[in-house]
Amino acid sequence: MAKIFCVANQKGGVGKTTTTVNLAAGLAQLGQRVLMIDLDPQGNATMGSGVDKRQLELTVYDVLLESASIAEARVSSQKLVDAGCGYHVLGANRELAGAEVELVEVERREKRLRLAIEAVADQYDFVLIDCPPSLSMLTLNGLCCAHGVIVPMQCEYFALEGLTDLVNTIKQVHANLNKELAIIGLLRVMFDPRITLQLQVSDQLKQHFGDKVFNTVIPRNVRLAEAPSYGVPGVVFDPASRGAQAFVTFAGEMIERIKAM
Ligand code: ADP
Ligand code: MG
Repeated sequence: MAKIFCVANQKGGVGKTTTTVNLAAGLAQLGQRVLMIDLDPQGNATMGSGVDKRQLELTVYDVLLESASIAEARVSSQKLVDAGCGYHVLGANRELAGAEVELVEVERREKRLRLAIEAVADQYDFVLIDCPPSLSMLTLNGLCCAHGVIVPMQCEYFALEGLTDLVNTIKQVHANLNKELAIIGLLRVMFDPRITLQLQVSDQLKQHFGDKVFNTVIPRNVRLAEAPSYGVPGVVFDPASRGAQAFVTFAGEMIERIKAM
């Protein structure tokens, strides 16, 4: 049965999508069967996985409104398959922004994605969900399905402040909707060890959260930022780059972590 993880942080631009697509590709490279779900109407994780969001016939929107199953709506990019990093994509585009409003009216609205994943869970080792930069109904749907939340963070002064809201939301979801949910870990991303403040915040994180902080650190690396414009994760775009290698190491760490779950 698949282990299901949300990549969430209500801040924008902190590296959620970069983490999701590179972790997906890294896990695939290590032989894991992966489904990546894009829950952000911006569709960046879809595009960054080599899937053109404008050409999609069915997306996660149709799955949330129960007019399609995941088996019907999933696609994959041949480019990634050829690179030995293929994974399935349940894509998103602007249409998904409407789901927020439409779901307000329906039953079991926060459990829609969970039920859809259950139908395919035995086909995967990992399901990774890229969340939008908000604590909205879409993020709630993601949190309701997940065993764990991966929180990418930049080691900056305000990083810890934003974390409180996310931790409270996760506690609420845990108490009311999904007993399995836990923060699996904080992932330090865009890390630059030359900046003293980043080293300090990194130490603070470890003091505060102990082994909830992943061992792997993702460096700031321009190859990771360049990859999306080629429609591939950095792991595929430049496998030798430091950023790509860090994500493959992180994929290995995730495989070890789920053995203990
Ligand atoms: P989010 O999904 O949280 O909004 P993104 O993953 O889209 O964040 O990242 C925001 C920007 O930072 C993007 O332009 C991305 O390419 C860049 N970026 C993310 N991680 C790194 C990194 N480790 N090194 C350099 N640039 C990065
Ligand atoms: Mg994003």
